[in-house]
Amino acid sequence: MAQERFYYSSKSSPLISADESIVNQILTMYEDGTSVGLIKETFPDIKINNNLYMFLPYVITDDICDCGKPLYRKTKGRTSFAAELIYCPACRHDETPDCLCKTCILKRKNELEARKMHFYKTWDSYYDNTYNSDIELSNLSIYEEVQLVILIHEYFNKESKSFNFINARLIEVNFGVRQLPTEIFKFTKAFIDKKILIPEKEVEYSTSLDHYGDLGLFQPQLTLANCQWTLNLAKDGTTLTVGEIFNYLVKKDYTAAQREIFWKECYQESIINYFEYSTRNYANFDLIKQNLELIADELFNHYSLSKAYRLIYYGIQRTLTHKAKYSTTIKSANSYLRNLMLSNIEKYNLPEHKPNLKDFNPVELSESYFTHYIKRYILRSNQEYFYYNLADIRHKF
Ligand SMILES: [Zn+2]
Ligand SMILES: [Zn+2]
Repeated sequence: MAQERFYYSSKSSPLISADESIVNQILTMYEDGTSVGLIKETFPDIKINNNLYMFLPYVITDDICDCGKPLYRKTKGRTSFAAELIYCPACRHDETPDCLCKTCILKRKNELEARKMHFYKTWDSYYDNTYNSDIELSNLSIYEEVQLVILIHEYFNKESKSFNFINARLIEVNFGVRQLPTEIFKFTKAFIDKKILIPEKEVEYSTSLDHYGDLGLFQPQLTLANCQWTLNLAKDGTTLTVGEIFNYLVKKDYTAAQREIFWKECYQESIINYFEYSTRNYANFDLIKQNLELIADELFNHYSLSKAYRLIYYGIQRTLTHKAKYSTTIKSANSYLRNLMLSNIEKYNLPEHKPNLKDFNPVELSESYFTHYIKRYILRSNQEYFYYNLADIRHKF
């Protein structure tokens, strides 16, 4: 006898050949929570096994599918299938968000099209309001100028005339994804915030872009990977290409005062790197940043890097001995180091001690892109500055 009220997803269901009223009884028992064992015993003629749920049919409902045929419903499973299932045997509609029936595919396509249209409209006005004026190149600080040269040098592709940030994301730590180096990440983000680096207006729509914030304001989720980026800079009111900006900046001549500022940056970075290198490798305690900056400032005024390294080496060794002997806290070890450094800076600057202080080139310390660029292209020297104190260097500038 045909079962017109049921649809089976498994053609090997033992219930297919049973009488419709028996199938109804089995369904009711299953829904009431009767054990499969008891159901088996009640209907010994039907080959029910422990996978009964798999073989239960969908039952016809009064609801009509978009295709005009009735929808069927399957009761929820007791363990793994916790939700009711809906199915239309005629068009295979299953009411899930990724249903593959023709109607749902078309519906999703139309929805996407509508979102896309809405996005482009919103994006256009957002873009025109947000990026409505160039920034004058002369408003950049000398630090930004150098950072910009580095960014162009490292990430601009001359052939495609675009920045190549593929895979680079503005998310700081994300395992498995190649990141911008932290230093470049920081200034790239600052360039974006200042609208120096801006997306091209022509973007390819993706759902990750059309985002609305808590206040309902449009905030496109711009990542380096999902847009093409360009620079938003002008000179005397004329918009410049990335190539023109680069050429202008690499040819720029810096004054003696500016060179000294650049040198100070490099110097302080080297000092702080060496302190950090020392504590990481030998001392295993955190140094207080303000102390380091203070010490670096004092060293800069009187010592070449080569001699500053020697003083730091002494300072760290003495602090370690002191720390071991008196089991001092990190805080008092920091004070000890600061006081010792400041007094040695004074002491070794006296004429009678000066000749005793030897040059020291401890290790190959890593340097930032910034320092590397300054030394190589602006100061045009890698080694000589290492042995000069500020007075020598001023003389050179
Ligand atoms: Zn249908
Ligand atoms: Zn569907």
